[in-house]
Amino acid sequence: MSEIPLLKSAFHSLDRCESAHGTLARPDRYRTLRELLKHAPQIIARGAGLSYCLASAGDGTTSIAMGRFNRILEFDRETGVIRVEAGMALGNLLEFVARHGFWLPVLPGYPSITVGGAIAMNIHGKSAYHSGLFADHVATLWLEHPDHGEIRCSKLERADVFDLTIGGFGLTGVIVSARIILKKLSGNRIERTRIKTANLADTVAVFDKHKEKSDQIYSWNDLNRSSGRFGAGFAYLESFIKVPARGGFEPLAPASLESERVSCSLVRRPLLDLIPHVYRALEARRPERAFLDPMSAAFPLLGKEGYLRACGAKGFREMQIIVPFVNWSRFAEGLERLVHNFRITTTLGSLKIFRGIGKYLCFHSDGLCIALDIPLQTGIDAFMAKVDELMLDCRGLPNVAKDSRLSATVAKSAFAGYDEFKRHLMDFDPRARFQSALRSRLNV
Ligand SMILES: Cc1cc2nc3c(=O)[nH]c(=O)nc-3n(C[C@H](O)[C@H](O)[C@H](O)COP(=O)(O)OP(=O)(O)OC[C@H]3O[C@@H](n4cnc5c(N)ncnc54)[C@H](O)[C@@H]3O)c2cc1C
Repeated sequence: MSEIPLLKSAFHSLDRCESAHGTLARPDRYRTLRELLKHAPQIIARGAGLSYCLASAGDGTTSIAMGRFNRILEFDRETGVIRVEAGMALGNLLEFVARHGFWLPVLPGYPSITVGGAIAMNIHGKSAYHSGLFADHVATLWLEHPDHGEIRCSKLERADVFDLTIGGFGLTGVIVSARIILKKLSGNRIERTRIKTANLADTVAVFDKHKEKSDQIYSWNDLNRSSGRFGAGFAYLESFIKVPARGGFEPLAPASLESERVSCSLVRRPLLDLIPHVYRALEARRPERAFLDPMSAAFPLLGKEGYLRACGAKGFREMQIIVPFVNWSRFAEGLERLVHNFRITTTLGSLKIFRGIGKYLCFHSDGLCIALDIPLQTGIDAFMAKVDELMLDCRGLPNVAKDSRLSATVAKSAFAGYDEFKRHLMDFDPRARFQSALRSRLNV
């Protein structure tokens, strides 16, 4: 243990609202990793540290940075099954598999997000309606636990551990590698169509009309407008298509977002209020239909780091909620009322469409998914508490990964599997060796 440098560190969530003091270790060998697991009293695996909440650090906890475990271990070019180490960034993985005619069925907004982080939060992407969540495409996991040693698990082998680990916030151990089932690339361009929408209801109508035939569907909505224009914006439909073209795909643009460097002290609040106007104006100047290199369309927030840095200047909150289709209209009306009553300014509103069912605290069900980015401002806490009430009343689910203030009480009310998750975690790991600020807040 003495030979492993442990760096005292202050950690912050991406939204700058949750902090902790712990230590950081960067092992590069399995032997060192196992030694850390054995000796550090409280531990948690850390991917890129890009969660909006503080999930991979905690007070007095040793965060194990997995970035040096980033190799491809196996790749079957015929079947498209790949085994990679968990610290690998999804952008690097995507560049590799795309060269061989494959694609990752689920991609988040940013390429530095790691395989381990994607599994532990069971993330979704723009393709949620057709492709489900990241872990739906994970066949096997290899997990290290200080008391249980190495565990290989899948839907068929130690399924209890597999289920607890996907979307398990890193609390069952360190995922060291995963076998992922890729999808065959069905084209060499993404055709993106942008449709202007008058309000939230109009956006949902566009989704309904196009969801079956679009590979990916999502929207940008301005939630600062009123009088029938609440949520006016754009719906985006994306599908892979084949066009005659030479050469390979473009390389990804460099990723520069790091959770520790997200804020920009020059940004003042009135400038943030302009963000939706600027976005709308820029979009309106772009063509309604475009044929994009898939790499450039893969990660929507790559190249828009300035947005997160600006929001992060004084801290911001994100909320993401899936609302069952039957309750959507009631939720949307309630949200509009709350935004206006509390005079809240949002910098982003966005919709996606989901179908499926999730276990434990998983962000998965049938319904419409809405995301809001809200810079810290007067009344924000009371506003968000009211949105929690509205969500619970409409039987919605919150995204634990995105909301750094979500309380144990709200999580327990929202997720039918909350008590079971807590109980199964304690059965598996009675010493509760894996700890984070998120775990303490959710009281699991
Ligand atoms: C710009 C941006 C866009 C995003 N877009 C999306 C999106 O479209 N959809 C979506 O669902 N999410 C999205 N997210 C959220 C992000 O995908 C998740 O928070 C993800 O978990 C972050 O992964 P990470 O590698 O940064 O891991 P961290 O934030 O470091 O950790 C996240 C969790 O994973 C655990 N973990 C990490 N590695 C391991 C491992 N090897 N073994 C066990 N546990 C591990 C940690 O303990 C922690 O609980 C976005 C985030 C950003 C910043």
